[in-house]
Amino acid sequence: MENAKRSGARSAALQVVAALLTLALMGHGGSNTTKLQACLQSAGTGSVMAGWGLPVDPAIPEAHSGYKTGKLPVIAHNYMAVTANPLATRAGCEVLHAGGTAVDAAVAIQAVLGLVEPQSSGLGGGGFMLHYNASSNTVQSYDGRETTPLAATENYLRHISNAQQTTPLPNARASGRSIGVPGVVRMLEAAHRDHGGNAWSSLFGAGIKHANDGFAISERMAAAISGARNDLLRDPEAAAYFLNPDYSAKALGTTIKNPAYAATLDVIAKGGANAFYTGPIAQSIVDKVAVSTGGVTTSVAITPGQMAMSDLANYQAIRRTPVCSTYRTVWVCGMGPPSSGGIAVAQTLGILNHFDLSAHPPTGVNSEGGKPAIQAVHLVSEAQRLAYADRNKYVADTDFVPLHASGVASMINATYLRSRANLITTTASLGTAVAGYFPGAAALGSSAAEGTGTSHVSVVDRYGNVVVMTTTIESGMGSFHFTRGFLLNNELTDFSAEPSDAAGPIANRVQPGKRPRSSMSPTLVFNKAADGSRGDFYVATGSPGGAAIIQFVVKTVVSVVDWKLDAQQATSMVNFGAANSPTTGVGGEHPAIDVSNNGLNDPLLVGLRSLGHTVSFAAQSSGLSTIIAKPVPQFTGSGRVLEGGADPRREGIALGDGLPN
Ligand code: GLU
Repeated sequence: MENAKRSGARSAALQVVAALLTLALMGHGGSNTTKLQACLQSAGTGSVMAGWGLPVDPAIPEAHSGYKTGKLPVIAHNYMAVTANPLATRAGCEVLHAGGTAVDAAVAIQAVLGLVEPQSSGLGGGGFMLHYNASSNTVQSYDGRETTPLAATENYLRHISNAQQTTPLPNARASGRSIGVPGVVRMLEAAHRDHGGNAWSSLFGAGIKHANDGFAISERMAAAISGARNDLLRDPEAAAYFLNPDYSAKALGTTIKNPAYAATLDVIAKGGANAFYTGPIAQSIVDKVAVSTGGVTTSVAITPGQMAMSDLANYQAIRRTPVCSTYRTVWVCGMGPPSSGGIAVAQTLGILNHFDLSAHPPTGVNSEGGKPAIQAVHLVSEAQRLAYADRNKYVADTDFVPLHASGVASMINATYLRSRANLITTTASLGTAVAGYFPGAAALGSSAAEGTGTSHVSVVDRYGNVVVMTTTIESGMGSFHFTRGFLLNNELTDFSAEPSDAAGPIANRVQPGKRPRSSMSPTLVFNKAADGSRGDFYVATGSPGGAAIIQFVVKTVVSVVDWKLDAQQATSMVNFGAANSPTTGVGGEHPAIDVSNNGLNDPLLVGLRSLGHTVSFAAQSSGLSTIIAKPVPQFTGSGRVLEGGADPRREGIALGDGLPN
């Protein structure tokens, strides 16, 4: 019940009253009132600003059990930011409050996330962004995925060299081989060029301030440090930052400063992305990737990667066409290749179009979302088995391995998806599905790989523009290589280390300059207009979670569209779904799931087993950040409210401008 203390059971209107009362009590009146009214979080006895250090400050770290009950949706009128960290959300919200655009806020948010959630995302990683431009009614996607150094061969991840055909040391992930050319900074710059409002140089202040002044290590960061202690000990710079002088892990609540990160942000703020991709910062990255020994306490061999200065200088963020399709009354837009997320979400929903999920609503609906029905979990997970079968076989970086036939369109084609839906019965699980057949498609092997060190950001600005950005360094703490105040990714382990299997070459094999396949699924949902075309913005969501991201996003979309849950309920809702195996996951961390007696006391788990599912109720660590736009006719101006939900399984919050008085 930890969170009951934080959110309190109060309505949106009461939150605003409480905010004003708190400000009056604190003596913040006059000209400050307008500013401070925005971006406050409701708390049990009033409202607080993340980072003020007052009791119930959401930025004060606390231990919890993996799921905080009692979170309520946050309501705003004009703008909102939802991220996985209170200080990052605040930074974004303040940019929005000052009139910045959604992309401006995303830049400020990423600068803070890279500091306070270094295990999940940062300057040394990559990401994908979808942007909705309200004035032109267009959706653009940005690909900031890491690339493979040009010197890499298809054996880069599995052989030290042709002469030494053994696994890189100490393992592929912790070697230099896993490190792809980072893409986040170029992607943010490209999006900012297209949709920025404020000067680029003005967007790094919060990140620089927190890095210089220090911040308190959160629970998730503390757990990531302690879990990675032995790996961090290989890199003296990482050890000096994350560990104490006696090499123990810095603990929850420790104040930590990162002046090197502040200096890096300052260089990027003044010099733009070029100052990151060329010059001393780029040289530090190249040098770090090339290290061949490490160890603070003992010396160990590390297989170097082969990243050159030219790999960094030539890195390009790519503007790509988003994957958009219809689902019942809405349009859903997602990220195309090299992410598999947009296609897999669209295929799953396109298959589910042939089943009525509103006939199988959750029961016991409360602030945690309720308990999904047996048939709902069955149908959704069956649709996902079919979608993952296609993903594992066909989807990779299409600049290197094109999709067959008419590309993405053939995979989300309504007739094709109807044929896939026909494979589903309501009485027994498929177990493992076979990939669809596309005439003329080359014979390909399959790969399913992916890890968990990622963060999702959703932002709506006062102009109606929307950003969804999923940003990653791949596994928690990435490759454990640390330079200039940030960690380098291990994204290349999202490739298949094996270049082929018995069926043929693997689409997602390593190739020089290629981007590894992702599951990241930043997702925008729009209402259908009267003529069936894409209409108003409706939902923004996305999550970390490796290959399970696709399942987390589908659960959220279905919860909103089919079951009419609010943004927090849909985010909190039990996670469920399947990749392409007989195992169906039902998140056992959720209070609605009874994991006692090996699940035999829970009718959902028992019911799924009776349909032939192998049920896993392992805890699921989604990190959904969701915003829903809801029409509210009595308000003037935008005529809608924004409703935000942050995942109770992580540390994030939603903040916005409150409601009109
Ligand atoms: N690297 C994974 C991907 O790109 C994401 C890992 C995670 O979500 O933690 O799909």
